[in-house]
Amino acid sequence: MQLNPHYAELNESYLFSTIAHKVTEYQNAHPEADVIRLGIGDVTLPLAKPVIEALHKAVDEMGRKETFRGYGPEQGYDFLREAIQGYYADRGVALELGEIFISDGAKSDLGNLLDLFSVQNTVLVPDPVYPVYVDDNVMAGRTIRYMAANAENNFLPMPDESTEADIVYLCSPNNPTGAAYTKAQLAEWVKWAKAHHAVILYDAAYECFVSEEGCARSIYEVEGAKEVAVEVCSFSKIAGFTGTRCGYTVVPFAIQSEGQSLNKMWLRRQTTKFNGVPYIVQRGAEAVFTEQGMREIQQNLDYYRRNAAVIAAALDEAGVWYCGGKNSPYVWMRCPGNMGSWEFFDWLLDTAHIVGTPGEGFGPCGKGYFRLTAFGDAQRTQEAAERLKDALATL
Ligand code: PLP
Repeated sequence: MQLNPHYAELNESYLFSTIAHKVTEYQNAHPEADVIRLGIGDVTLPLAKPVIEALHKAVDEMGRKETFRGYGPEQGYDFLREAIQGYYADRGVALELGEIFISDGAKSDLGNLLDLFSVQNTVLVPDPVYPVYVDDNVMAGRTIRYMAANAENNFLPMPDESTEADIVYLCSPNNPTGAAYTKAQLAEWVKWAKAHHAVILYDAAYECFVSEEGCARSIYEVEGAKEVAVEVCSFSKIAGFTGTRCGYTVVPFAIQSEGQSLNKMWLRRQTTKFNGVPYIVQRGAEAVFTEQGMREIQQNLDYYRRNAAVIAAALDEAGVWYCGGKNSPYVWMRCPGNMGSWEFFDWLLDTAHIVGTPGEGFGPCGKGYFRLTAFGDAQRTQEAAERLKDALATL
């Protein structure tokens, strides 16, 4: 037996374990310190009532012979795909049912999609970004190029004449920077992809947070995007499904290469390697799109949005540069006084007892930046914002 040699090329993922270790160490040394965690990317509000009711109902169906379900369709039940189709149609994006594939979350599909592409392809990944894109490709042995996201381009890298790649990852609204592409910017990416015969893997996991005019929630808002872009999305952030697990991927019929349809290839891949998402979970996800579901979910999103606004206001008052927070639950701040990300982490923990995430954990361009999340409790976030403001004022 020979092992996949590329696993040895992976960088150890020290970020969250180092944070946990540092926080434990600090708490042991300062048991009286009331530490507030604004570091996690996980949601904290429970599932909405209509979702819970739908889950219960589906559980009961599974217990009766007449309504029991066994293996479901690999691509997902029509009821959920139709609900997703409606969700896009409300924004003026027309999807065919056959283009929508239900998944157990965005993370799996972001990796699984790579099955469809040659390992000879070159991949372009923004820096900083959700680390999974890099590791998925390192595991497969693909060549990875990075495009710098920085304050000069508002953390939204754009293609130019020198941009060369076969596969491009775009994440908008971005984790960790919270920056969101406008429709006009995505149109440039689509134009570039067409000219270079490249495919865009568009991660829309945070689309539900987009609130500014002009920002896109789906890459398919751009004309012609269906010829070059696969969109990966999730119920994790919109509806708190991080532990329930459900997402979806759109693979348009129009993406063709070497006489093959990417949609057909993905269907073939899924029917071979995937047996679908539980019926119960899909019924829960369907309830997200009901009138009552949408109403409750909007309330939860507004709760997180208010947290983001509270953090942003503290930074505004302190005169600290940041982006995100408007179309995203993440606020991406520049560390004050030229501090490094980890230096600021230690300083903030010690001075204000706040835990955040050092930006360089998401890529070298994250050096000197710091991520704060709005997924926490409102009162605790308010308290953290006060402490943050006070701490920054001492510098
Ligand atoms: N994409 C991005 C950018 C994320 O930040 C996350 C999770 O934090 C995911 C995908 C994973 O989503 P899921 O829970 O659907 O696997």
